Amino acid sequence: MADTENRPTNFIRNIIDGDLASGKHASTHTRFPPEPNGFLHIGHAKSICLNFGIAQDYKGLCNLRFDDTNPEKEDIDYVNSIQEDVKWLGFEWDGEICYSSNYFDKLYSYAVELIEKGLAYVCFLSPEQAREYRGTLTEPGKNSPHRDTSPEENLALFEKMKNGEFKEGECVLRAKIDMASSFMVLRDPIIYRIRFVHHHQTGDKWCIYPMYDFTHCISDALEGITHSLCTLEFQDNRRLYDWVLENISIECQPQQIEFSRLNLEYTVMSKRKLNDLVVNGQVEGWDDPRMPTIAGLRRRGYTPASIREFCKRIGITKQDNMVEMGMLEACIRDDLNENAPRAMAVLDPVKIVIENYDADQVEMLSAPNHPTLEMGERELPFTREIFIEREDFRVEANKKFKRLVLGKEVRLRNAYVIKAERIEEDDAGNITTIYCTYDADTLGKNPADGRKVKGVIHWVSASHCIEAEVRQYDRLFNVPNPAAAEDFATTLNPDSLVVIANAKLEPSLAKANAEQGFQFERLGYYSRDNKSEALTFNQTVGLRDSWAKIEKA
Ligand code: ATP
Ligand code: MG
Repeated sequence: MADTENRPTNFIRNIIDGDLASGKHASTHTRFPPEPNGFLHIGHAKSICLNFGIAQDYKGLCNLRFDDTNPEKEDIDYVNSIQEDVKWLGFEWDGEICYSSNYFDKLYSYAVELIEKGLAYVCFLSPEQAREYRGTLTEPGKNSPHRDTSPEENLALFEKMKNGEFKEGECVLRAKIDMASSFMVLRDPIIYRIRFVHHHQTGDKWCIYPMYDFTHCISDALEGITHSLCTLEFQDNRRLYDWVLENISIECQPQQIEFSRLNLEYTVMSKRKLNDLVVNGQVEGWDDPRMPTIAGLRRRGYTPASIREFCKRIGITKQDNMVEMGMLEACIRDDLNENAPRAMAVLDPVKIVIENYDADQVEMLSAPNHPTLEMGERELPFTREIFIEREDFRVEANKKFKRLVLGKEVRLRNAYVIKAERIEEDDAGNITTIYCTYDADTLGKNPADGRKVKGVIHWVSASHCIEAEVRQYDRLFNVPNPAAAEDFATTLNPDSLVVIANAKLEPSLAKANAEQGFQFERLGYYSRDNKSEALTFNQTVGLRDSWAKIEKA
């Protein structure tokens, strides 16, 4: 047995444990089968962690297979981004990448086998007629007039389909199962259709393409998959999955098991909807940091470990539910709280002049990179002029306001205690400068004077800070379930992105690596953008859960 500590338990793993114990299987072989018609999203991460996680824990194998039977919607860019995302999440697939399109020749010969057995036929009903013949959930369907064409004739017709002798939509190949079945998927489902389109892998070799239900089970069997894990909407399709494998000459009989898909509040999880957002310019691309895509979360500052942790926390069940955004955010907050170095940044600056500090003096103060963990130190230049956050100063305030108040003292994080003496305002009454004095004896964590100054605020040197663009994000949609809206685009949050063009940052941040996360003290977690040439930081998540507040508002 593999090491069982720290392993999740769920009903799928229980089935696998049973299959290994009974000797039904000697080892596990799973697969992750995305269709390359968009970028992967956090829902796919759930499936990736499940499939690759099982392979890791049971010392089994997991394939990456592109389920590429819809060439119109697919693209090689998606093929590439999906590989990148799976690797970034920390998983490795077994051997070469698989493509359903690699099996087009074999799939074709299995279709021929079904025709020869009298279990498939070429049907010339128009789509409207076919709909009428299909029946409804309460009424059985009717047999197609082409259902009893002889195998010989069907073989010739299918050959002609393959050779491009029919027009698109003129005919299809259907499995001959049962037009009265209570499972609609068994009412003579289409297994091949004609499409005169170029395929990103097979070029112009084919003008007939197999349908998902026919392709998926055979691909699983050809790859020796033991457990074919998919989401609940494929429950009925399992009948067809099993029917196909029982009726062709193939050894392996993988078991399809369904689990509930991930739904996350305040976002959408369908690739079609995500594609709409991209195409309509409502976001900057598939990797926009507001998108629930893996690439978007990555750019936002999520780490692979935080996403894996999220998938662990949500677990695997058969219950459909909606997961709160706060749950995803808690995972990255926990990660960064522990692993992100601290830094100081001022987003809405107001200038402070420390009148008793020399104009040409620059002191390099050292500051720990983490309050509790050993993460080294960095230098902070301290100068006569500094910036603090505008909201950290008030002319008057009660005791609850533990920041800088006119006539009172506050401690500058990692530096001195200062006292606000007077202010200067512009004609409109906006404060332009706060004049202060500092106390040279108050440097360090335990100042010798024992003075009790409750408030601590962050700051940067006005002359030595660097400027950067900081992007503040809010939820992309205004409602918990945008997919339920008639037009989901009407529920977009118009304020989901606020760009601060000239935030003031401590100089050490100039060396930040792309995707490196920091806690900007007292503000939240930020990560250096991985696309912009100029120094740019994306807000990853706030210091505290802000979602609970939204619910009540
Ligand atoms: P979408 O609705 O986003 O287009 P899909 O099911 O069409 O999703 P695929 O590329 O076919 O996308 O998905 C690949 C694998 O990921 C499938 O096994 C699918 O069941 C799984 N998957 C997709 N979305 C989710 C989700 N929200 N939660 C869990 N698994 C998912
Ligand atoms: Mg799918």
